[in-house]
Amino acid sequence: MVLARRSPGFTLFIDADDTLWENNVYFDQAITKVTSSVARHGHSATAFRETLLTLERARVRTHGYGLANFRHCLELACQARLPEPGLAAVLQVVDREVSLLARRGIEFLPGVTETLRELAWRHRLILLTKGDHDDQLAKVARSGVHLFVHRVDVVREKDAAAYVDAVRRHGVRTGMGWMVGNSPRSDIIPALGAGLNAVFIPHPATWALELAQIPDLTSERLLVLERFEELTAHF
Ligand SMILES: [Mg+2]
Repeated sequence: MVLARRSPGFTLFIDADDTLWENNVYFDQAITKVTSSVARHGHSATAFRETLLTLERARVRTHGYGLANFRHCLELACQARLPEPGLAAVLQVVDREVSLLARRGIEFLPGVTETLRELAWRHRLILLTKGDHDDQLAKVARSGVHLFVHRVDVVREKDAAAYVDAVRRHGVRTGMGWMVGNSPRSDIIPALGAGLNAVFIPHPATWALELAQIPDLTSERLLVLERFEELTAHF
């Protein structure tokens, strides 16, 4: 579907996971299931979680944010923490939980589709999501969000260079671009660093690796909102 726009307006780059729809809460649930299984086999749940986070922190740089890497991190953490017997049973839980994640339905946050529909009349909306290309496009297809935005852009990492590149590729004029998202580390800090304005919409279940201190919360180039649907009052 080609969306029409009434006026050129701004270019709004919009994050997907935990901005438009629930995401990390499902990963947390999968980790909880695996951790419970680890604990049932007599091993420390806390140590397992610490090992997992350390592995994720180390591996996202080289292996990205996809489900395949999540599965591998869980498997490596199990192998690091559990001897046989028990390991095989916990690995079965890993397999089941990651398989469920791969095909679970998309649950939009409140008011998201209505808000996108309204914003699309006034502004150019570009879904800008990072991660495994196939994983992210599968979520876009399952959600139908491509019907509400003008473009979908999947990048491997959302750092300042990626935002500079997105601004260039999409021909965004100075002062006319905004990044909307829940992640200080991936959406807000690098977008501001690349010269974009930003809208920070915190999500309580944001992944630990996405958290960071935003240097200046009072910046004129930064808007902080509680809910996605508040965007229509500002744009
Ligand atoms: Mg996000």
